Amino acid sequence: MQRLVLIVEDEKPIVDILKYNLEREGYKVIFALDGEEGLNLALTKAPDLILLDVMLPRMDGYDVCRRIREKSNVPILMLTARGEELDKVLGLEMGADDYITKPFGVRELMARVKANLRRTEPNVENASVIRFGEFCILCERYEITKDGQTVDLTLREFELIKFLAQRPGKIFTRENLLEEVWGYEYYGDVRTVDVTVRRLREKIEDDPAEPKYIMTKRGVGYYLKVDNV
Ligand code: CA
Repeated sequence: MQRLVLIVEDEKPIVDILKYNLEREGYKVIFALDGEEGLNLALTKAPDLILLDVMLPRMDGYDVCRRIREKSNVPILMLTARGEELDKVLGLEMGADDYITKPFGVRELMARVKANLRRTEPNVENASVIRFGEFCILCERYEITKDGQTVDLTLREFELIKFLAQRPGKIFTRENLLEEVWGYEYYGDVRTVDVTVRRLREKIEDDPAEPKYIMTKRGVGYYLKVDNV
């Protein structure tokens, strides 16, 4: 099935480059040149992935991202300008799955698009249910429940908790997690992992400051604590 990618970017030459390369890889592409139209297309066309610029007319990329997240867990890759370190973290806070720095290489971009799309494709490895504590991860449905109530996670948060839950008690460095969960050679910084862990704790833990499940091994990394392991 042909996957649909939405580009939200006000610089038409960048749209053209992205569109050309995505279409060459077999994706269907739609685009918007401002934030409002981007949000509208994101909510009405159900794209499989969104490439979202930060600086946009009418509504900036953070707002667009936040508004999409109220309705959808679609993978969102933010496009940020070089040196906008704070912007990257802010984008992740708003629920983006990933970011890529402009100017970007086409190969790197395509690798990230593929890696992020891969996570929404059902496969055999996902065909299971993982339980821990009061939680139940329904892999095929990309859903996690706490005492039977669905917890609203972004795709990346879901992938992270699933990855940890599949390997309870095993400690992973932040670099490990970037490679395994983000799924490609990652040149960004490990704060990406910290931000995602923090957001996950806020959604899952009764007291995010005193986590019972997603534990920090000081100086090493993170692991999922499960009592019966
Ligand atoms: Ca822009």
